[in-house]
Formats: sequence, C-alpha cells, structure tokens
Amino acid sequence: MLPSVHRVPAFSDNYIWLFEYAPDHVAVVDPADAGPVLAAAADRKLRITHILNTHWHPDHVGGNLAIKNASGCSIIGPRREQAKIPGIDRAVGEGDVVSLGDHHGEVLFVGAHTAGHIAFHFASANVLFPGDTLFAMGCGRLFEGSAADMFAALARLRGLPADTRVFCAHEYTLSNARFAVTVEPDNAALAARYAAVQQARRNHQPTVPFTLLEELETNPFIRARTVAELAARRSAKDAF
Ligand SMILES: [Zn+2]
Repeated sequence: MLPSVHRVPAFSDNYIWLFEYAPDHVAVVDPADAGPVLAAAADRKLRITHILNTHWHPDHVGGNLAIKNASGCSIIGPRREQAKIPGIDRAVGEGDVVSLGDHHGEVLFVGAHTAGHIAFHFASANVLFPGDTLFAMGCGRLFEGSAADMFAALARLRGLPADTRVFCAHEYTLSNARFAVTVEPDNAALAARYAAVQQARRNHQPTVPFTLLEELETNPFIRARTVAELAARRSAKDAF
C-alpha cells in the first residue's frame, strides 16, 4: 500500500502536506503556518520527524521554527537558499537523497520560481512535491529565474513516471484552467478537466493531488515545446 499524504489547508490557498512515510510518522512539506500543522498532527496522532522545504518563500517556511520547537523535528531545505530557511539542519541539492524510513527521495533542482527551488520525488511512494514549480494546469511565476530556467525545470519533472502523484503547494487550479483553455481551445482532455475542476470547486473539494499524466495532457506550460512558447504563455498568464 502506498503511504498516505495528509492535506492541511492554510491561509487562503496553501496546501501543507504531511507525508506519512511510516505508520504515524510524518514529514511536513512546506509549512506555511505552524498552528494548523500541529493541530492536524495532534488530532491524527502523527509524530512530526522532518520538515521538507522546497524554497524560501514565507508561505512555505513560516511554520518551520514553531513546528521544530514543538516536535524536535529536523529541517531539510534547498542548499542555494539555506540562509533564508529558518532552522535548517540539512541543506540539499540536485542528486541528494532524503531518506525517510524505507523511502529514499531524490532531490531535483528546479530553480526558476526562486533561484534555488528544489522538488522532492519519492519514487517508492509514487509522490512528487514540486512546491511552487508545477501546479495543476499551471506553473510558478518567474520571480527569480528565467523562462529558460522554468523550461528546464518542467523538462526535469516531465521525465518522471506519468502516474506520479503530484502534491503542489497551492489550490490555483481553477484560475489556471480558465487560462489554459484560452491557450488550447481545441484540447478535449483540457476541456473535460476544466469542467471537472469547476464542479469540484463548486463543491468545495480540493483538486490536488493530480497525476503527472494529467499535466502532460492539459498543462500549457509543461506542454510548451520551446522556451519562447513557455515565455509567451507565462507572460500572458501574468496579465490574465
Ligand atoms: Zn513561492
């Protein structure tokens, strides 16, 4: 059986993930805020052993210190941003392995949204934590990197198994879908997904996680064939 990943909503649209890599033991991915994480862990009797940070933005590391103080957990984050990661214990980069129980996750460098952004891929659990690099039908804004950096980052993620479950850090799906259908109006898979996510959001249901295969079929950013095409789509979305 694949490990559970528990969803903890925070702020207006953040998702914090509790990756239960061993029974009752969790790694917290990108804790925007400590309160809801500690409450969820207490409710479900989960022991927090690690925090995994994908990048330095405050809505991804804001809960680090309070969670560490409460749990004694160890914090793993991006080497190139380690000065901006509160409480960091271990800095990692491309090719490093993060072992959690029997699961050995690969660290992928995907700098673009921020210069040092990383993603965590646990193949044995079939999960990817891309932070703010890949969203459902979208990608992160280019705050510190270029379109070429994002193209390379998405190419990296595109190479993972298509059935990978993707746990991104925000519920941006509906807004992304509205834009995506303007880019690919004839994409039937995209039209069907847009209808499905509209229905889900009307019912206040989350649209994350999703599979990489869904992105390969409907995400105009991961589907961009050239850096120029990705750049044009990213600029258009920023103004959408
Ligand atoms: Zn961010």
